[in-house]
Amino acid sequence: MTGHDVLTNPLVNKGTAFTEWERDLLGIRGLLPPRVFTLEEQLQRTLHSVRGKSSNLERYIYLTTLQNRNETLFYRLVTDHIEEMVPLIYTPTVGEACLQYGSIYRRPRGMFISLRERGKIAEMLRHWPVKGVRLIVVTDGERILGLGDLGALGMGIPVGKLSLYTACAGVHPSYCLPITLDVGTENASLQTGSAYIGLKQPRTRGADYDAFIAEFVAAVKTIFPQALMQWEDFGNTNAFRLLENYRRVLPSFNDDIQGTAAVALAGVLGALQLTCSTLPEQKLLFLGAGEAGTGIADLYVAAAQAAGLTAAEARARCWFVDSKGLVVKNRGDLLAHHKLPYAHEHPFIATLEEAVRVLQPTALIGVSGTPTTFTQPIVAAMAKFNPRPIIFALSNPTSKAECTAAQAYTWSEGRAIFASGSPFAPFELNGRVHVSGQGNNIYIFPGVGLGALVSQAREVTDEMFLVAAQTLASLVGPDDLSVGRVYPSLTKVREVSLRIAVAVAETAYRTGLAMRPRPTDVVEDIRSRMFQPVYREYT
Ligand code: NAD
Repeated sequence: MTGHDVLTNPLVNKGTAFTEWERDLLGIRGLLPPRVFTLEEQLQRTLHSVRGKSSNLERYIYLTTLQNRNETLFYRLVTDHIEEMVPLIYTPTVGEACLQYGSIYRRPRGMFISLRERGKIAEMLRHWPVKGVRLIVVTDGERILGLGDLGALGMGIPVGKLSLYTACAGVHPSYCLPITLDVGTENASLQTGSAYIGLKQPRTRGADYDAFIAEFVAAVKTIFPQALMQWEDFGNTNAFRLLENYRRVLPSFNDDIQGTAAVALAGVLGALQLTCSTLPEQKLLFLGAGEAGTGIADLYVAAAQAAGLTAAEARARCWFVDSKGLVVKNRGDLLAHHKLPYAHEHPFIATLEEAVRVLQPTALIGVSGTPTTFTQPIVAAMAKFNPRPIIFALSNPTSKAECTAAQAYTWSEGRAIFASGSPFAPFELNGRVHVSGQGNNIYIFPGVGLGALVSQAREVTDEMFLVAAQTLASLVGPDDLSVGRVYPSLTKVREVSLRIAVAVAETAYRTGLAMRPRPTDVVEDIRSRMFQPVYREYT
């Protein structure tokens, strides 16, 4: 590489931190201002700049530009200030960034593959400059966060998720490839808007869509045979099918279904330490029967089976209210395939409030994307049946949460064990401070991905998500529980990811799914592979 190449390659660029010696060695003297800064000094300056911006979208743009210029500094900033930076590089800011993606797009990061490239997807993947891609996050933009169909603008999501893989689990940035499949959009304002960057046509569906995905998967297997793939923000008419069709074709998983399931189950396991009860004793009532809800129920069933129940007994402990009311066998509408295992023989109930009164669940889990649905009577009823009701309002962003932390604590007289999808500030009630947990998938997917990558797992199994949930729950300490928090602090996320990666890799080694032999020291093996945001010295 020439000196100029080094300055323009974000993986090796150090900017003003190149030493006097390096400036001469690389022939870049004069291409930088004269003063040499340390990484710590650069960090302080960068932090000051981020905080000085006038909006979170401006901060997102600044951080993206930094990532494109100097990845070491970017990741050091994110890992050292994880609680402050995650909401800027991922939800909620990434939602706003996706809406503006056409106008804030600065330079390529990731690949767009559209219907126009049918028949030549493999050829296109060869255009990616790095040959050893090991991790792909792919979306078709149909269900971006709670924002719906954003088509090609959804690119912010795979880009953001892969940044989290590096920041939270140390997956090397050069392994990562974000991909957006452009299959059209149903979003009328995008179809008619002049600035839209994607194909202006309705979404392709059915056999045409499936053939496009099949070609894409085959191309990935050919060009990047070692890659692990994460399906991200697909609509639920495709998400379950794609996962089932491809999870054994190439190592792949769906974070919206499986990652959410593991983080929610970990929260329930954490809560059991406060309720002093067991998993088989729980009765879960979900508001929302989509990818998140049925994913959580499926993993609960696996965990409850491991704890002694039969699958039928465990399923009988999971109940769903969706937009049409309680999901029961004879409801009169055609139930989607993923809801059928939970459609019990029971009289129909039209409202959540009535369902709570009749079923008397131990845990109420909101994954409906509909705010203010956990009302005062509902929370109060939960607190009447349970000394410590488990109430999780997981819908994102904050504005979609089924209830707020303050409402859950106030309406349950401070007895609720509350967690949410987006963070809430600590809340004081009658002199006691309650700190709610954030059921954020970033506790799970980076560690699962790292463990699967390091062990070279042929498949990412449900058991791996179960051990990930159990590992996360085991890391909740007395300090967390004493304030009512059922997850560890986000500041510990790299250690959490390491522990989960170890548990996942051990599962792969034990079940014969690993394609590399088990090293003697699995913890050290994984720890030593984690990317550290420090500068290398040029000699
Ligand atoms: P989805 O579209 O697959 O499912 C949504 C479900 O909610 C559907 O069954 C729908 O019928 C139901 N629903 C909608 N409005 C309702 C209402 N008023 N009453 C009852 N049911 C209603 O979406 P998904 O992927 O399951 O995500 C749902 C929500 O969960 C989103 O807001 C998402 O942000 C959130 N989520 C949170 C996390 C997390 O916190 N870790 C992870 C994933 C998803």
